[in-house]
Amino acid sequence: MTNQLFKLFTSVFFVLSLINCSGGDGDEELKGYLQEESVVPDYDNDPIYSKANAKNLPTFWDIFVESAALYGKDLSNITDVEFVSEADLAGGTAARALGSCHDYVKIQVDETVFRNLTLGEQLFLMYHEFGHDVFNASHDGGGLMAPNVRSVEYTLFQREVEDFFTGVDYIEWTDEECEIIRELLKTETQ
Ligand SMILES: [Zn+2]
Repeated sequence: MTNQLFKLFTSVFFVLSLINCSGGDGDEELKGYLQEESVVPDYDNDPIYSKANAKNLPTFWDIFVESAALYGKDLSNITDVEFVSEADLAGGTAARALGSCHDYVKIQVDETVFRNLTLGEQLFLMYHEFGHDVFNASHDGGGLMAPNVRSVEYTLFQREVEDFFTGVDYIEWTDEECEIIRELLKTETQ
């Protein structure tokens, strides 16, 4: 056999074996395998985030607690958690933290605006507001605590969540700042 002919023979054999592979009984199994491999981790297939339901706001608190536990933060003792529905929050804001510098969590939500956000935006927003109320985190730390709702790509969000719960990027309000915040909240909610 010449070298040329040998090459032709091997390539024909290769093509034949490919055809053989994609037909027959193993077909369904192969498809399942390929589909499984192509699942890209995202908000809607994440085992924790996929439990979010914008029409049932406490699901976001449950998610935050579960997420914190992954990093050794036990928030299960916090039971005073309240969501207050408020239409037309100033500036088209979807949510605000009213429990900052207090020992409770109280989130004011414009549910219409909130429901129109993407799941990623909803999670970012809720983590941000819980960050204020639970950890008295200010905007200075950046990451999750950076102001303004933004769309955060899943992998980046995961990193920001880790940085937040491991204390890398949040800065607590000072006692003086908390004093001012408590006064502001008092006058606003009266
Ligand atoms: Zn904020």
